[in-house]
Amino acid sequence: MEQQYIKGIPFCSSKYNEVINQLKDWLSDKREKPRFIVTANPEIVMSAKETSAQSVHFKNILLSADLITADGIGVIIGSKILNGQLKERVTGADLTHDLIDYCNQNRYRVFLFGAAPENNEKAIENLQTRFPHAIFQGRHGFVDKEQMEEVKAQIKQFQPNLLLVGLGSPKQEMFIYDNLQELNVPLSIGIGGMIDILSGNVKRAPKVMRDTGTEWLYRLITQPKRIKRQLILPKFLLSVLAERVRKITN
Ligand code: UDP
Repeated sequence: MEQQYIKGIPFCSSKYNEVINQLKDWLSDKREKPRFIVTANPEIVMSAKETSAQSVHFKNILLSADLITADGIGVIIGSKILNGQLKERVTGADLTHDLIDYCNQNRYRVFLFGAAPENNEKAIENLQTRFPHAIFQGRHGFVDKEQMEEVKAQIKQFQPNLLLVGLGSPKQEMFIYDNLQELNVPLSIGIGGMIDILSGNVKRAPKVMRDTGTEWLYRLITQPKRIKRQLILPKFLLSVLAERVRKITN
């Protein structure tokens, strides 16, 4: 699949439909290697561009992913600044829904790791009602080192086709990367706060905002403490602009 680099991160430039078809293929492909994908927003790009050891490690994790999608309007604008070919967002929210739907059609197993205990339980309950043919299991995401071993044992025993990890970045990508071979799940994805949304306790932005790329504004209004995180967006765009200017002047 075609790629476009933004600040050193190789984003897949395929359209949503091509990406989801590729992921469905990977999901069904039991004999192949375990794969993981990252749905990356400007925050992820920015936290992988520092020189600290943690940032360099995180960047290496991203570079080892089987596919990185543009999750958020910020990445699309960044691509435009670079005259790039990213055309549409391929969000974790849409992928999560469509992949679970596919698992339902095929009676596959889905494991959800992350979020507070009550949200994880409610998400599993809602999903099981809505997608009765898929088989769900979950575990909340507030665990210490010892309990982490129990989570891994639980996942291995369950043998999911799809592993959705909602621990926030970079925790979720690190968990997937560190345990990819051991857990041996055909497809793993970090899904941020999606388990909270699936629980029904946290709402996603209205469709009109999702379609116009203003979901970030909804999140800002409903969760004002995200302001610090959202200020990363203008920093990201300035940094991409600087990359463009460097390219022109070189
Ligand atoms: N979370 C978790 N364990 C932790 C820290 C966070 O399970 O140790 C969960 C948290 O409850 C939330 C998700 O991880 O469900 C992170 O959500 P956030 O909105 O920060 O993620 P984003 O979608 O912005 O990446």
